[in-house]
Amino acid sequence: MFSRLCRCGDGSQPPRPGRRALVASALALAAAPLTVTPRAARASGGVPHSLLTPDQALALLKEGNDEFRVETPYHAALGRERRVELAGGQAPFCVLVGCSDSRVPPELLFGRGLGELFIVRNAGNTVDTAALGSIEYGVAVLGCPLVVVLGHENCGAVAAALEVVQANARFPGVIGEMVQPILPAVLAARQGSGAVTLDDAVVANARRVARRLKTQSTVIQGLVEQGRLKVVAARYDLDDGDVIWLEDL
Ligand SMILES: [Zn+2]
Repeated sequence: MFSRLCRCGDGSQPPRPGRRALVASALALAAAPLTVTPRAARASGGVPHSLLTPDQALALLKEGNDEFRVETPYHAALGRERRVELAGGQAPFCVLVGCSDSRVPPELLFGRGLGELFIVRNAGNTVDTAALGSIEYGVAVLGCPLVVVLGHENCGAVAAALEVVQANARFPGVIGEMVQPILPAVLAARQGSGAVTLDDAVVANARRVARRLKTQSTVIQGLVEQGRLKVVAARYDLDDGDVIWLEDL
């Protein structure tokens, strides 16, 4: 049923606030004055935002992952008709903060097609300024009602951070610098249990990134407080194909 809900702009929905009004409302919540230029405000192509609530968006991902996990044939909209529809603008329903790992492709894990997920990916699913700006764009300009921070089993970036903490490991280039943002999560996980496993660190990292999004971005915080946005952390199991929602634990 939710698949139908994410189709936007069919004229059957009640009048909704204009996109610019929603953007202005979201940005007005920021403590520091922010502005959205007319060009940025038009970036979604005039397409109405997703009509899903945060919980409906989350249910849609859960449904898609259930189908992926039991190997239901993939049937996401990818054809010309959908491409033409999206050429005029986008209205994704979820910002997905995930790892670059080749085994963790968000659209496939959640059975989604074109125009549904606004994805921020890097090794270790961390959030720097570029990532945070992308996430804020996804929620404040494109109107996504959900942000998911997705860690995964046997994450190489988190493993590298663990090696730094446990063995003072060194890595070539800027890899060591890249995993720095993961270190606080590893240290916190170690503090709680004494010893820390890679999976403890993966979960701690995903939870920490999600928590910081809600506390460090006034744009995100404001939308969450209004009930228009949900931020959740999750862990993907490589062989089971299962996404565990950490808020459900
Ligand atoms: Zn990873």
